[in-house]
Amino acid sequence: MICSKCGDPAIVSQRYRGQRLCQSHFIEDFESRVRETMRKYDMVKDGERIAVAVSGGKDSTALLLCLHKILGGRDKELVAITVDEGIAGYRDDTITSARAIAANLGIKQEIVSFRDEYGYDLDDMVQGKEVAPCTFCGVFRKKSLNLMAKRMGATLVATGHNLDDEAQSIMMNYLKGDIERLMRFRPRKVQPGLVPRVKPLREILEKEIALYCMVNGVFTESRECPYASLSLRADVRDMMNDLESLFPGTKQSTLQGFEKIAEIKLGNWTKIDLASCRICGEPCVKEICKACELCKRLKG
Ligand SMILES: [Zn+2]
Ligand SMILES: [Zn+2]
Repeated sequence: MICSKCGDPAIVSQRYRGQRLCQSHFIEDFESRVRETMRKYDMVKDGERIAVAVSGGKDSTALLLCLHKILGGRDKELVAITVDEGIAGYRDDTITSARAIAANLGIKQEIVSFRDEYGYDLDDMVQGKEVAPCTFCGVFRKKSLNLMAKRMGATLVATGHNLDDEAQSIMMNYLKGDIERLMRFRPRKVQPGLVPRVKPLREILEKEIALYCMVNGVFTESRECPYASLSLRADVRDMMNDLESLFPGTKQSTLQGFEKIAEIKLGNWTKIDLASCRICGEPCVKEICKACELCKRLKG
C-alpha cells in the first residue's frame, strides 16, 4: 500500500476519498481538513479565547493538539476545561491523561466537577433512577462547560465531536423524529449567557482521530464510558459502522445531507430566544433549565 501523493508507504486507506496516505501526508491532510471545516463554518475569529473541552480521550486530545498546531501564534488563545462527572473506575484515568496533555502543551487548564457544582457524582445521580445516565451526564456537562468557560473569560467552547458522533446524533434524532433537537445542532448561534460552541473535528472520522493521536506519539485512555452501552447511541453506532464499511462515505453523506436540510429549514429554528433560568440564571428554553430541573428531582 503506497501513498497516493508521494509513493512512500501508506499508513491509512481513505476508501471514501479513494486515496491512501503516508504519515506526513496524513498529518498534513488532517490539519488542512480541520482548518477547512473551521473556515467553512466561520468558527474562530481573531482575538478569541477558545476553551477546549478536554476529557482526556482521543477526540479531545487530538483537538487540543491540532488547534495548538494550527492556531499557534495567530492572535487566538487556547485554554482547557476538563469536566469530572464522577464515574468511578473510569474518570480518574482520563483526568490524568487530560492533565498531562494540557501541561505538555503549556495550556492553562481548569477542572470542574459535578460534585462541586451540583453536590453529586454522576454515579450517585443515576443510582436507582429511571433516567438514562447519558441524559444526566449530557445536561450537567453542558452546563458545567458553559459556567467554567465564562469564569475563564472564554469567547468560544470547542468540543471534540467527530464525524461518527455527528452522523450518530443526526440519525438518532431522525429516528426519534426530534427535529427541534436536530436543528439545535448547527454550529455557532449567538445567545446571551451562552458561550458559543464549535466542533472543529465534525468532518473527521473517529478512526482517523485515533490515528492522528498515535502518529503524534500521544497515547490516550481509550476505555469506553461504562454507561455508554445503555443508550440508543450504541446501536446506532454499530449500524452506522456496518453501513460505512459496506458503503464508504455514508457517515459523510449523512452529515452533508443534514446540512442541506438545515439550510432550508433553519429560518424557523434560529428565532427561538433563550430565557434565563429562574434558579441559576443560566440560559434555557423554559422557565427552569434542564440541569436545575434534574437537580430538583435528585433532591425530591
Ligand atoms: Zn505521502
Ligand atoms: Zn438553572
